[in-house]
Amino acid sequence: MSCGEHHDVDCSEILQRVYVFIDNELEDATSDEIRHHLEECAPCLDQYDLERCIKKLVHRSCGDEQAPDALRAKILTRLTEARVETASPD
Ligand SMILES: [Zn+2]
Ligand SMILES: [Zn+2]
Repeated sequence: MSCGEHHDVDCSEILQRVYVFIDNELEDATSDEIRHHLEECAPCLDQYDLERCIKKLVHRSCGDEQAPDALRAKILTRLTEARVETASPD
């Protein structure tokens, strides 16, 4: 996935790291890179928001336990549907 703009760090690389970034397990230097990227890249920011949202919902449903893939997929589907519903038509 790419927004077509040039970034210091490639979008695919950011998206791979964003999960770790959400968990705050990245070193500061790397977090800054990601934060900077998210500021200038809407598609990646969207993805980041989505992942954060899923994480919050999964956490609420499962506590500290790892969410089963099925639940994660269900939440993702619901979020995607909600986004489609709220999207304004062109
Ligand atoms: Zn990006
Ligand atoms: Zn971009």
